Amino acid sequence: MKEFLNFINGEYVRNASGKTFQDINPVNGSVIGNIYEAGQAEVDAAVAAARAALKGDWGRLSVAERCKLLDAVAGEINRRFDDFLQAEIADTGKPHHLASHVDIPRGAANFQIFIDTIKSTATESFNMRTPDGKTALSYGVRVPRGVIAVVCPWNLPLLLMTWKVGPALACGNTVVVKPSEETPATATLLGEVMNQVGMPKGVYNVVHGFGPGSAGEFLTQHPGVNGITFTGETRTGTAIMKAAADGVRPVSLEMGGKNAAVVFADCDFQVTIDTLTRSCFENAGQVCLGTERVYVERPIFEKVVAALKERAEAMKPGLPFDHDTKIGPLISKKHQAKVLGLYKTAKDEGATIVTGGGVPDMPDALKDGSWVQPTIWTGLPETATVVTEEIFGPCCHISPFDSEEEVLGKVNANRYGLATAIFTQDIARANRLAHQIEVGLCWINAWFLRDLRTPFGGSKQSGIGREGGVHSLEFYTELRNVMVKF
Ligand code: NAD
Repeated sequence: MKEFLNFINGEYVRNASGKTFQDINPVNGSVIGNIYEAGQAEVDAAVAAARAALKGDWGRLSVAERCKLLDAVAGEINRRFDDFLQAEIADTGKPHHLASHVDIPRGAANFQIFIDTIKSTATESFNMRTPDGKTALSYGVRVPRGVIAVVCPWNLPLLLMTWKVGPALACGNTVVVKPSEETPATATLLGEVMNQVGMPKGVYNVVHGFGPGSAGEFLTQHPGVNGITFTGETRTGTAIMKAAADGVRPVSLEMGGKNAAVVFADCDFQVTIDTLTRSCFENAGQVCLGTERVYVERPIFEKVVAALKERAEAMKPGLPFDHDTKIGPLISKKHQAKVLGLYKTAKDEGATIVTGGGVPDMPDALKDGSWVQPTIWTGLPETATVVTEEIFGPCCHISPFDSEEEVLGKVNANRYGLATAIFTQDIARANRLAHQIEVGLCWINAWFLRDLRTPFGGSKQSGIGREGGVHSLEFYTELRNVMVKF
C-alpha cells in the first residue's frame, strides 16, 4: 500500500491530524494507497516555507541559474519517465499510449518552454523629453509575484500542474500545489525530482486534500499567498475568485467548457472523423478542450453520424497497458454516477441514442471500475441539458445546420467559451467564423494541437487570463516601471 505525503520545505511530511483518505484506481476500484490530508497547520507551514524561499537562495539566483535548475527538472522527469507514467496511469486509468505521448512528455516540456520564454522576453522602454529640456527614460522590470497557489484538477494531472509550476518558477516565484484529491501521485513524485536536482527548499511544496474545509480552501484563503492559478470547474473557480477578493489577489482561471465542432460539407472527411473521434472520446472525454456539441452541415449529417458511431463502437475499453485498449474508465465512481445521470437525462429529454448510453460489459476483474460507454445522441433541441451543460465524459450530441449564420448563433449560445474546432476546405470561411466564435481557442481542421508559445485560456465562463509563452508572464510576474531623469 502506497502513502502519499505532503511535500513541505523539501521534506515529505504526514500531518498533525492523522487524517488520511484513499487513492483509488478507477480501472477496478482497488486502493492504491493512503493520502495524508493537509490541515491548516500543514498549509501554514507550506506557505511559510514558500515565503522564506523567496528571500533565500532561490530569490538570489540569476535568471540563467534558475533556468539551469528548471532544465534539470525537465531532464529528471524524462529520466524517470517510467515512474511518472506508472504513477499517472495508476491514478487515472488512462491508456498507456495517451499518458506516454501526451501527459508525461508535456510535463517535461512545460519546464523547457518557459526557460526559453523567460530568457528571451524583453521589457519595454520609452524615452521622452521633459518640460525643462532634460530626458526621461522609462523601462519595465518584471519581478516575481511571490507565493503562487496552484490548484489542479485530475484529468491531466502532471501536464496541467506543470503548465503552471513551470512558468511560476521560471519567473522566480515559489509555489504551493494542491493537486486533485483523485490524483495525488505525480505532484508528490515531483518533490523527489526537485530534491534530486538541488532545488532550494520551499520553492516547490505540495499539500493534499479536498476543496471546501480542506487544503484547497485553506490555501486559497491564505493571506501569505500572492496569486492563485486554478484549473477546474467553473463553480470552483467562482469560489476561488471570491476567496481571492480578500487581500485583492490576482487569479488565473482555466475552467469548464461546452466545446463545439463545426463540420462543413466540403471538409476532408477522413481528417474530420479522425479528429472528432479524438476530440469527443480521447481520455474518456475528460479533456477540457473536448467536443461535446457537433454541428454538421445537412448534406453530410447522416454520413458523419454513421462514421462517428462506427468509431465510438470501436473504442475498446480495457486495461491501460493492453495494446488494444482505446478508452479508459472515468476518474471515479462519483464522476461515473454524474455522467450516467446525464446519459439518463438525455434519454428522458427525448434524445435519439445513436450508440452507447450506459456501462460497457466488462470482465469480472474490472467490474468495479468507473466505466461508461462512448455515447452519441441526436435529435435534441439546443436547450436540452446535455447540449448546454458540461458533461466531461466520452459523449457528444450531433445536430444538422443549414447556414453559417445559424451555426454561429448556436455555437455562441452557451455560457462557456473555451474551444472550437472548424472543419472545412474553405479557409476564408473558416477564418471568418474563427473571428466571430466566442472562445479562447479555435482550431481549423485540427484539435488539441498546441504551440506552447501561444495564449491558452477561455472566454466567458471558461476562464480569466491567458497562460502560455509570454502571456504567462502577465500573471506570474508584476511589471514595474522605472523612470530615470537625466
Ligand atoms: P474541480 O473544480 O472539482 O477541482 C479542481 C481542484 O479544485 C481540485 O484540486 C479540488 O480539490 C479543488 N477545489 C475544489 N473546491 C475548492 C474550493 N472551494 N477552494 C479551493 N479549491 C477547491 O475540478 P475537477 O473535477 O478536478 O476537474 C474537472 C473540471 O476542470 C472540468 O470542469 C474541466 O472542464 C475543467 N478543466 C479545465 C481546463 C482548462 O484549461 N480550461 C483544463 C482541465 C480541466
